[in-house]
Amino acid sequence: MAKPRHVDKTRGSGAETGALPLAKALDKLRKAYGTGIELRDDRGSLALEGAVATWRDKIDAGWAAARFGYRGVVNDLAVPGLEPERLEPPGIKDCSLDGLAVDVAVIGGGVIGASVARELARWNLSIILIEKEYDVAVHTSGRNDGMIHDGFAAKPGTKKAWYNVRGNRLWGSWARELGVDFKRQGSLVLFRGRTSAAAYPLMASRAKENGVDGWEYWSRSRVRAEEPNASPGQHGGFFLPSAGSLSPYKATVAIAENAAANGVRVSFDTCVLGFDLESESIAAVRTNRGTFRARAVVNAAGNWADAVAGMAGDRFFSLHQRRGSDLILDVTTGVTQKHIMSMPSLFQAREKTKGGGLVLTPEGNILVGPTARELPGREDYATAPEEIRELERHLKVNVRLSLSHVITYFAGVRPCTYEEDFIVEPSQRVRNLVHAAGIQSPGLASAPAIAEDVSAMVVRVLERSMAVRPRADWKPHRLAPPELRRLPLEERARLIAANPRYGRIVCRCEEISEGEVRNALRSTLPVSSLDAVKRRTRAGMGRCHGGFCTPRVMEIVASETGTGLCDVLKKGEGSWMCAGPSKSGGRS
Ligand SMILES: Cc1cc2nc3c(=O)[nH]c(=O)nc-3n(C[C@H](O)[C@H](O)[C@H](O)COP(=O)(O)OP(=O)(O)OC[C@H]3O[C@@H](n4cnc5c(N)ncnc54)[C@H](O)[C@@H]3O)c2cc1C
Repeated sequence: MAKPRHVDKTRGSGAETGALPLAKALDKLRKAYGTGIELRDDRGSLALEGAVATWRDKIDAGWAAARFGYRGVVNDLAVPGLEPERLEPPGIKDCSLDGLAVDVAVIGGGVIGASVARELARWNLSIILIEKEYDVAVHTSGRNDGMIHDGFAAKPGTKKAWYNVRGNRLWGSWARELGVDFKRQGSLVLFRGRTSAAAYPLMASRAKENGVDGWEYWSRSRVRAEEPNASPGQHGGFFLPSAGSLSPYKATVAIAENAAANGVRVSFDTCVLGFDLESESIAAVRTNRGTFRARAVVNAAGNWADAVAGMAGDRFFSLHQRRGSDLILDVTTGVTQKHIMSMPSLFQAREKTKGGGLVLTPEGNILVGPTARELPGREDYATAPEEIRELERHLKVNVRLSLSHVITYFAGVRPCTYEEDFIVEPSQRVRNLVHAAGIQSPGLASAPAIAEDVSAMVVRVLERSMAVRPRADWKPHRLAPPELRRLPLEERARLIAANPRYGRIVCRCEEISEGEVRNALRSTLPVSSLDAVKRRTRAGMGRCHGGFCTPRVMEIVASETGTGLCDVLKKGEGSWMCAGPSKSGGRS
């Protein structure tokens, strides 16, 4: 498949570039969504202003506007009762970054920002990765299904399709280099009936168009033989062997650790608040920890990427949020199926989601989901009862699964443009800014490929002012920390003999030892919270939800960081685990 090129529609107004004239566009939108709408051609993008009655109208108007042929849609429609969200910086304020000068500042410690930082570290550059939270993968990159999609579902010709297929291929080597547990179980899309099965040639031709690696038709009996627990209602399936899964937060941690080991400075609790612009370039980056200079800036700010673009005067797109919820099933369920499985309905083709299913994780849990709902809230991770009920239908895809296997639920929020495609391109207004924005699903699968391209764009920006050379000492490999429960008995014994802390089990559900917790706290990333430990080791992720291990992990954190138990945090600032001593010598 040919790589999609960015079409430059910024020279002049949208109408000059063949877009629907403003008056006609306005007429169409007003007829559908009310006369409160105003339109403006903002240097090639279509700016929607005024008001509509509901949130749904706002989203629908944005999607309709995206079909008018403008470069992007900036949707500022007001909805009664809903205030525009404001970025809340951390309360921490210091001057630790004042006066710093770096070659590249990467904004956002999700899988995209971390991957870009890792790729850039191949060059002789000084790099800072800036994240407003206390760790990497706190937002969307830690709240997804971990599926390395095959690339079949993305619309042909889109950036999503291209980056997904390339990213899927790259994950093989990335996972090996980074010590990330990545399994290519393959994805089995089951046909719900004869009509769905008849769609196979169309599915195959789409997979071919997207350049997906390998696929097969499986008859009903083949499915029965391969997946004896698959729904008896299946009429065969479409098998895509290149799909797989990994732990998205562990992978993001591994990528960021490798970047840090290669000299990338990682600054947590650091929020970009604005830029100083000079001669159409970013001269300085303003944060809650001071102002510093950067020759090039990467916008990988996830659900806030439109706000960050706006800080640089380059808001040519806007994001809307699509929340997705998932059920996590007990680790014992993994043995009941061999592949990632789903059974979509034909109606789903019209929805802006791949439809969800049963994702088998490398650890053995099954993730059920995700749902897809347009809701306001860039960081709203509430799970609604109706979404959970909606997920129950997926349980029928594997007859051995039931609601009693559910350990917990979670939600994540996809950052979507109204064009429903990724933005991976240098800014056309700011000379030293590169955007990796609107990275909704399959962003995790696409991350290595996006990073490859973004780093090449950054290098081109930098070459205008400096000599950029590959580093001879770049280390692509990261030694994965040992995971006791996955080691054969002899290896466990050897490890414990060398370091008895591996013999002390801290989390009983997941069999995590003190040695593993201490390892997590001694990595190249500066973390010390309970959630950071959980993300790296799984301590607290089992059936008891940390009821047993939390006090033990707190003691280890306190001893590693040299602080008191009352200073240990669950996540970011202010999230103390204890309010204070309850009585003399005790803890509350
Ligand atoms: C429910 C769900 C399931 C999904 N499943 C899959 C899947 O199976 N496979 C797949 O490929 N994709 C999946 N996705 C999509 C995938 O999770 C995203 O595409 C990907 O995580 C986006 O990564 P990111 O780095 O762009 O965003 P994020 O992970 O959100 O990272 C952006 C970071 O920028 C930081 N930030 C924002 N503003 C600032 C600022 N001003 N200063 C400093 N830092 C800032 C934020 O704190 C955040 O940590 C799923 C998404 C959801 C919601």
